[in-house]
Amino acid sequence: MDVAAFVPLSLSDHEGHVAAVVFVPGCNFRCPFCHNPDLVLPERAAGGLRVPVDEVLDQLCDRRDFLDSVVVSGGEPTLQPGLQEFLAAVRVMGLRVKLDTNGSRPDVLRDLFEGKLVDYVAMDIKAPPARYSEFAGVPVDLVRIEESIRLIRSTAPDYEFRTTVAPGLAAEDLRTIADWILGAKRYVLQPFRVPPEKGLLDPTWSDREALSPHALRGIWDLVAPLVGGGGVRAPTWAGPSLRPMSRGRRVVGRRTSSLRRLR
Ligand code: SF4
Repeated sequence: MDVAAFVPLSLSDHEGHVAAVVFVPGCNFRCPFCHNPDLVLPERAAGGLRVPVDEVLDQLCDRRDFLDSVVVSGGEPTLQPGLQEFLAAVRVMGLRVKLDTNGSRPDVLRDLFEGKLVDYVAMDIKAPPARYSEFAGVPVDLVRIEESIRLIRSTAPDYEFRTTVAPGLAAEDLRTIADWILGAKRYVLQPFRVPPEKGLLDPTWSDREALSPHALRGIWDLVAPLVGGGGVRAPTWAGPSLRPMSRGRRVVGRRTSSLRRLR
């Protein structure tokens, strides 16, 4: 498995847990509002530095009495060969696992669930079905997305679905998404923002207007009755800006977030 960056401590990436975060390179989507073009675009990701997996595992092992969770994010983790083996090694340390995914690989999710290798899944729902490819930046097989939604709801030990409310998504789009995942345990709306000192995957999206956090809180009142829980997440972003350290290590900035519960 390739690791592009490792954050040894985060109090915000897995709510209620003291976590380390592993960022993997590569993604099969091209969401124009993506914060991590250095991880996603092949011409930027391929030549990037890597943190040796053994080094990551060593650090996790050294910190296992202090940590209680490992978050695997990206990029798209389910594209990584060796993901299962990595998570199995994390499991041996007695740590929990949170997986961030775009839901495009239900076959991988099924294997992870069967292997009891994941405790919490956060799956992006990019847009309502009719607009999915527009916001993913590539043609998307909705059958796979729907299979991932079904699998996560039926099998994941715990989960959330989440939507970054990118420019162009409107209240009726969010309502349509909530109908699509009707009755899901947890749905989170994430305001669009442009991280300081970082570009978006499509820089032209930086100047586009999106719904404000205030507007999202009003929309949440409309979608909340359709799901089990969740709210509007308000991230403050200090990274990740990938900066090389010695011996291929990378430092990434830390993000913090809070979830405003509205019901
Ligand atoms: S937002 Fe997520 S799914 Fe979209 S391009 Fe970025 S890493 Fe991939």
